Order: sequence, then C-alpha cells, then structure tokens
Amino acid sequence: MVLDHPGEALRHSEISTPDPGPGQLLIQVHACAVCRTDLHIVDGELTQAKLPLILGHEIVGKVAQLGGGVSQFKIGDRVGVPWLGWTCGTCWYCRSDQENLCDHGKFTGYTIDGGYAEYTVADQRFCLPLPDGYSDAEAAPLLCAGLIGYRSLVKAGKAKRLGLYGFGAAAHIVAQVARYQQRAIYAFTRPGDEAAQQFAITLGAVWAGGSNQTPPEKLDAAIIFAPAGELVPLALKAVGKGGTVVCGGIHMSDIPSFSYSILWEERTLTSVANLTRRDGAEFMALAARVRVRTAVEAFELQQANEALRRLRDGKIEGAAVLTTAAANAQTV
Ligand SMILES: [Zn+2]
Ligand SMILES: [Zn+2]
Repeated sequence: MVLDHPGEALRHSEISTPDPGPGQLLIQVHACAVCRTDLHIVDGELTQAKLPLILGHEIVGKVAQLGGGVSQFKIGDRVGVPWLGWTCGTCWYCRSDQENLCDHGKFTGYTIDGGYAEYTVADQRFCLPLPDGYSDAEAAPLLCAGLIGYRSLVKAGKAKRLGLYGFGAAAHIVAQVARYQQRAIYAFTRPGDEAAQQFAITLGAVWAGGSNQTPPEKLDAAIIFAPAGELVPLALKAVGKGGTVVCGGIHMSDIPSFSYSILWEERTLTSVANLTRRDGAEFMALAARVRVRTAVEAFELQQANEALRRLRDGKIEGAAVLTTAAANAQTV
C-alpha cells in the first residue's frame, strides 16, 4: 500500500520484492500495526517523508532471506521492526547514548520503506527478537505503542499516581505495565467517550474521566498521548508539586499560553522522541514477564485506508493492525 503524496489515499500496488543489502534482512510481513504517526505522515504534518512511501513501523514478520554479513538472525526467525531504522553511530548523540536523537537517523515507514506490504527489508542491528506468548497481530503494537509508551513511562520517573491522556494504543499497553509496577492509573479520554473510559477501567485504571475533568487526587506524573496541545496546561494543573508531564507523541497542535504558576514548584514538562535499541531490549524483556494483553482490531493489508480512517475517527479500541495471509493467528 503506497503513499504517493500527502493528502491522498494509499494506493494498492504490485511492486517487486526488495533485495536485502549487506547487513539487512528480507522479512515476510505477517502483521503491521497502524500508528497515529502514520496519520501525521499521510496528512503532511511530518514533512520529511520519502515519496513514494510504504508506511508502517510496527512490523512483525519472518526472516525470509539474509543479506551479506548477517549474523544476528537466521531464516525463519520471528522479528520485529520498530520506528528507529538506522543511526550513524558517529554523531554526538549516538556517542552519548542518545541514538534516538541521531542527527542522521532514518525511520521505518517514514524516511525508509516500512511494513504496509508483504515484504520489507530492515537493518539487522535495529530488528528486535519478540517475546513468546503473543500472536503476530498481538505483538505488532508492542513495537511503537509499547516502546514509545515505555520510554514515556521511564520519563515519568517513580510516579505512583500516573495520568494517561488519550487512551488509545499506547496508553492501553502502558496502563498494564504501570499496574504491574504497582502504580495507580488515571485515564483521561475525549470528553463523553464513555466506551474508552470503560475500556480503561477494565484494564485496571482507578479513575477514568474526560480530559476536561479534574482527577480526585493530585497526580505525580502525566503522559499525554493525544496530539492535542490544549491538554498540556490541563495536565500541568493535574500534577502536584515536583510533578512531570511527558508528551509522548511526535506531533501536537499548538500549546495555548498558560500561567507560569502551573509550571512553578518544580514541575517538569518534557517530550519523548523516537527510541533507542536499549529501550527495545528492555521493553521486550518486560513484555515477556508482564504478558500485556494487547487489544487488536485486525484489517487485511488492502484495508489500510479503512484502518487509518477508523483511527482518525477515534473508533479503534486498542490498536489497529494490518495482517497478511502469512500471519500466525495463534499465540506462539
Ligand atoms: Zn508509532
Ligand atoms: Zn548519529
């Protein structure tokens, strides 16, 4: 499914199977989750996309062929491909353990082709072994919703009372990890979205309400997954002294001006950009222990436009996942 130009629907197209270059894997795609970032790319809000482009950065598949010099994987292995697709290894950020900020980084399904396809190639160094206990479709959302959610959760520090604004794919995974860590979850949804609030309660939230509501207690930290800048002042008001607000998305509408008093008392406002390979390894180890229950709405690959539309309309509970005929529906 090919994006020719921002603003257009993806086009179903037959193209030749890519050849794996040195250090790359050819991967038969089984499942690829649909991320809000994909919408930002389709809408042209992220402007660096290669065109034409195959979207998709939450890829689960099987290694079908090895490029020269590949040693970390063998044919038949199940692998995951996340957003971080390549880093230079030499810039200041790469050398200071912040490869997520690499000056020359390449990103799956954005500046290199991704997983809305039957086959893709990926650099073996950025591919992740996946935990057992998840079907292909269940594992796919771990690769961005899970990983970026995990990085956001780490930035929230030791917070015991944690607010999650926007209860979609990332929040539904983070909520389960945070509960495992014995934190209390406060879920904020679009005002009046009772289905999403009920979904949050079933995943163990102690409180769920609209983003315009005040939680019953001051929070220690809040993570904002919804791309709505007006949530930032609301979240700052909801956290107590010394609290942290983490913006987990790649794009957000403008933040309205706000009084310094809601930032004062050592509140911190920060953002998360991309991921490191260490985040990937740490989170997959955690996902093997926690056994996150990923709620998945599956679509066939050719229904990608429909999946994007339903995500845009807030109609997806959990994560939308594109699956191919090769997908293993069983827990492996
Ligand atoms: Zn993503
Ligand atoms: Zn670099």
